[in-house]
Amino acid sequence: GARFDVEALRAQFPILRREVHGKPLVYLDNAATSQTPQVVIDVFGDYYARLNANIHRGLHTLADEATAAFEATRARVKAFLNAEDARQVVFTRGTTEAINLVAQSFGRQHLGPGDEVLISMLEHHSNIVPWQLLALDLGFTLKVIPVDERGSLDMQAYQALLCERTKLVAVNHVSNALGTINPVKEMARLAHEQGAVILIDGAQAAPHQTIDVQDIDADFYAFSGHKVYGPTGVGVLYGKKALLDAMPPWQGGGEMIKTVSFEPSGTTFAETPHKFEAGTPAIAEVIALGRALAWVEEVGVDAIGEWESVLLDHATRAVSRIDGLKIIGTAPHKAGVLSFVVDGAHSQDIGLLIDQLGVAIRTGHHCAQPLLHHFGVEATCRASFAAYNTLEEVDVFVSALERVIGMVR
Ligand code: PMP
Repeated sequence: GARFDVEALRAQFPILRREVHGKPLVYLDNAATSQTPQVVIDVFGDYYARLNANIHRGLHTLADEATAAFEATRARVKAFLNAEDARQVVFTRGTTEAINLVAQSFGRQHLGPGDEVLISMLEHHSNIVPWQLLALDLGFTLKVIPVDERGSLDMQAYQALLCERTKLVAVNHVSNALGTINPVKEMARLAHEQGAVILIDGAQAAPHQTIDVQDIDADFYAFSGHKVYGPTGVGVLYGKKALLDAMPPWQGGGEMIKTVSFEPSGTTFAETPHKFEAGTPAIAEVIALGRALAWVEEVGVDAIGEWESVLLDHATRAVSRIDGLKIIGTAPHKAGVLSFVVDGAHSQDIGLLIDQLGVAIRTGHHCAQPLLHHFGVEATCRASFAAYNTLEEVDVFVSALERVIGMVR
């Protein structure tokens, strides 16, 4: 195909033209939040200038147009995930809320004493804590799939943990802390062999590779708008239609009902997905998410992933030459995340000082404290890549890092 034209992409992101401490911004914190192209930013001005109305209940033109634009994103997400039906797409505030929805609805319906839920050592806190809160309440057991020294899931241990008590497996597709890409299709097959349901946290996968929920055979799949070049405040829960149909609502309110009476049993609920979308949603954000996914498709999500691999390889080679630097997470299949620690230099000091040179990286536990603890560290530095990053930026980052290490050692 055509060469990946990163300069043309960069020009579409106004924030990449700003400076930080008098230096050009080098933004390498994309696993936390990706930046937003002008076409997505424009959705907000356009929405509030032309379209602003509450959806799904209007009999007037603005309400109809806003509803159509909102529902067009549902169709866009269906295509993005290769779902069978747009009704399998539930809008949430993000991945976190999607996981909590499954926990509070599916979990409360199906889990109890004697049951087991499997998560992995690689999970983000958002795929740990909802299950812990629920386990305290319902009395099921939470078990953890271990990782090997490179940060790959131990698939033999996974198979050994799976048993007839396993009701649900909840794992991420790509680890935000290490970049490990997990074999979710194989994991789904093994879970289904035991009659368990699998929820996949796709927050870090959706921006980097084609997602095909039918091919994976995912029961639930979640991702966030703000990591796919879209806005904060919106995300998606995909679910198999039969599962969603059988699940009770989680939050109650407007939009999610069919009829309401003061007799509690007299209230009836809307069909999937609306029964899971109580209250006025983030309408502009949902419409902007649709524009962001269109942008990702125009660029090509696999082309983005391949470019990030080029950046990751270049960065990995360069930092490997730094004395005393250790990369945490060296799995053979990795997305564009480079996590590392440096002998004699605190991650936080590195993060603060490198910011002075215009370079934004993440330092800390990356919302994966148990995982870092397993590797014997409290914090790492993490550089993570997106479509608009360049090889020159990687070089700026590496020389800034060398300078900073020289200052703190
Ligand atoms: N899971 C993973 C793997 C993530 O990287 C993140 C965000 N860092 C989340 C879940 C949570 O996403 P959000 O904060 O958008 O709900």
